[in-house]
Amino acid sequence: MNKTIIQDLGEYSGNHLWIKREDLIPFSFGGNKARKAELFFREIDSSDYNCVVTYGSSSSNHCRVISNECCRRGLKCCIISPEEASEPTFNSYMMELFGAEMKTVPVSEVHDTIEDTLRRLREDGYRPFFIEGGGHGNTGTEAYVQCYREIVEQEQELGVHFDHIFFASGTGTTHAGLVAGQLLNGDEREIIGISIARKNPRGRDVVIDSLRSYLGDRVSEDEIQKKTVFIDEYVTGYGKGSPEVTALITDILKRYGISLDPTYTGLAFRGMTEYMKNISGKNVLFIHTGGTPLFFDLLRRKE
Ligand SMILES: *Cc1c(COP(=O)(O)O)cnc(C)c1O
Repeated sequence: MNKTIIQDLGEYSGNHLWIKREDLIPFSFGGNKARKAELFFREIDSSDYNCVVTYGSSSSNHCRVISNECCRRGLKCCIISPEEASEPTFNSYMMELFGAEMKTVPVSEVHDTIEDTLRRLREDGYRPFFIEGGGHGNTGTEAYVQCYREIVEQEQELGVHFDHIFFASGTGTTHAGLVAGQLLNGDEREIIGISIARKNPRGRDVVIDSLRSYLGDRVSEDEIQKKTVFIDEYVTGYGKGSPEVTALITDILKRYGISLDPTYTGLAFRGMTEYMKNISGKNVLFIHTGGTPLFFDLLRRKE
């Protein structure tokens, strides 16, 4: 894939702010799920899978991208969703448009329903490919190791060194990929994941588990522990948003013409803004992980 641009936003809160526009990945409104999906579908395309099974809520960017990738290939796509998060959104409208078969069950039944769906598909002669929610797993991690390498190349092109990198951390896959990229590259900077749902210690432990799984014994436990920074202070309940985040989203749109969303990027941007009050004169990179349809859900709610 082509590199996504790093845009210079100039002085921001006593530091110099740059933004990596993963939201502009040119497929299905972009975002980190589009970067991960490219690797999953490389695997799918190179074998004889004829069906994809995954799960996520009605607002899932991952499920939108996966169902769009399936649709363009004429592959059957089955999405299992928790009924606790099933209100219609622009993402769920698109999943319908792409012809995904959606099954909504209580969250406690999601696991068994996935097993059931996979078993039934195999009985019917399908060869299903299963993708964890959010594209979690080593393939998703690899996508962000690649993104990290891209950032290092772009630093050379731009003649800048980013002292801090901020982004929204959900399933922790993007986070694990960036930290793994750094550990393999052996450079110094702070990579800071702002949690959008999980609290410590579990949220950080999940990132560390992904790192161990991806890195094997290439990097010491000590190094992994040292480089994994997971901030959970701004969690408001997944997808709930807050007046502070909405106000910040409006401000950033007016100032820079860049849209953020209340569930992921807006929350992470807020966390970064708070953090920046304690640093100055640094080069800071914010990774815009996408979620553009969620920005429109927010606009509609405000009508
Ligand atoms: C899924 C998602 C995230 C979180 O990514 P993870 O790899 O699951 O941590 C961040 N931002 C947006 C817009 C997302 O859709």
